[in-house]
Amino acid sequence: MRETQETGVMIRDLAGLRAGGKPALAAALALIEKHPRSHQAIGLLEEAWHAPHGLVIGLTGPPGVGKSTLINDLMRRWRLAGLRIGVIAVDPSSRRTGGALLGDRIRMRTDPADDGVFVRSLAARGRLGGLAELAFPAVVLMRALFDRVVVESVGVGQSEAEIVNVADRVLLCVQPGSGDALQFMKAGIMEIPDIAAVTKADTGAPASRALADLKGALSLAAGEAIPCFSVSAISGAGMEELLAALSPTGGTSDFAERRHAQAESWLRATIIHRFGEEGVKAAGPALALASRAAPFTAARDIAARLRVTFAPLQS
Ligand code: GDP
Repeated sequence: MRETQETGVMIRDLAGLRAGGKPALAAALALIEKHPRSHQAIGLLEEAWHAPHGLVIGLTGPPGVGKSTLINDLMRRWRLAGLRIGVIAVDPSSRRTGGALLGDRIRMRTDPADDGVFVRSLAARGRLGGLAELAFPAVVLMRALFDRVVVESVGVGQSEAEIVNVADRVLLCVQPGSGDALQFMKAGIMEIPDIAAVTKADTGAPASRALADLKGALSLAAGEAIPCFSVSAISGAGMEELLAALSPTGGTSDFAERRHAQAESWLRATIIHRFGEEGVKAAGPALALASRAAPFTAARDIAARLRVTFAPLQS
């Protein structure tokens, strides 16, 4: 069996990953990022695609709203309940420095000896394919291994829209006293969440007002009622209710359709990234069909077919 050159850790299949702990998972994620079309990466990803286990939660909201603090508290509570947690923190902005990114990640504290928690940050900067192209394979792998996978996305705009392409359930966080609810509604972001929460409930009146604004904005934007919470990661208010909504039974638990749509959209993005829109046209209806059965194999095979007639835009 092959080992990764970087680490020497064995990552031949999911069982090997489970046995290998954090170093094995880190090596596997590095492999699927650096050599996404390798036999080993595709084998792992297809195995994981057919063995989904955990719930994938997309968590989004502007900087400073309290996402890291909330994730820390959720992780603590989930660990107490014996759940295994994976976190993917995405910073799609090219303006932030490496230092600021690291600063954020340090706020998400985990015990290095605890194999039940794995945090990985992903810099989607400058990637043509955007967040989903990198995050989707990582999510597929991690949801086979963990009970909850949190994908945290920073910033308002494109990254919010893209989180739908990787998450089973999206939680939008809104800051008290910020007018966020109104701004998000204008930007069309209110159509994205499955759950919404006003953070910092311990601030009292501003949090209550923000909750009323949020409910108003969501009732205008969404066809069906979206659960809204007021939570404080610091006082613990509302956290039990939020935890229940972030469990597999806390909303619709039939994720198959959404996950298939995500696979198709990832495959489409991958082909567009390499061959442009013309590539998608040339791939034809095979693309949608293949993405359901074996998306990672399909990405490799469709690309191999297209390379015969198309000059790739990207290698
Ligand atoms: P992020 O940028 O969205 O990850 O936000 P952080 O988690 O870093 O939080 C931003 C600031 O809000 C920090 O100073 C936190 O201490 C503060 N904060 C986070 N959660 C709460 C809360 O529940 N109550 C109060 N009062 N402050 C909070």
